[in-house]
Amino acid sequence: MIFAHDTEAALVSAAALVNSGGRGQEMLPNLAALDQFFRAYGWTGQREHDEAELRSVRALRPRLRRIWEVDEDEVVEIVNTLLRESNALPQLVRHDRWAYHLHATPPDAPLATRMAVEAAMAFVDVVRSGELRRLRICEYPNCGNVVVDLSKNRSKRFCEAGCGNRAAVTAYRARRAAAQS
Ligand SMILES: [Zn+2]
Ligand SMILES: [Zn+2]
Repeated sequence: MIFAHDTEAALVSAAALVNSGGRGQEMLPNLAALDQFFRAYGWTGQREHDEAELRSVRALRPRLRRIWEVDEDEVVEIVNTLLRESNALPQLVRHDRWAYHLHATPPDAPLATRMAVEAAMAFVDVVRSGELRRLRICEYPNCGNVVVDLSKNRSKRFCEAGCGNRAAVTAYRARRAAAQS
């Protein structure tokens, strides 16, 4: 494990949130999709189940995406702003099946606020460990999705949207074409 378990889970969730608006495709088109995302990434706590909640979660994506695109000083600025705006107050908590981990917002804070702060807290760890290079953009041509590389040997190059498979197929076809020529 590169980071603490809650940090890694938060990074994966933040990347998935950013990528849910990537590749020119809206993957959070409605509340049902948000419900599914909420469950898939182990979110808990208060929900509004309304359009405003969905809009505010979607609006968070470009702000988080910036973190993958800018240098360290700017990452710090974004992260500090996210924490300050939400009056983040780190507390160790234990709930559901999770061991003690950090929450910096109360469970009844708006979902987008909790998502913003949880991501920000995870990025705090990444910056403090000097591991920002683990946040990368997918190398598959024209993909543009964000990647969190949690591999030991820093070898993850492709996003979770199937680009690894696509790249393998492309490489296989290229090898076969080369062999036949
Ligand atoms: Zn929790
Ligand atoms: Zn990709």
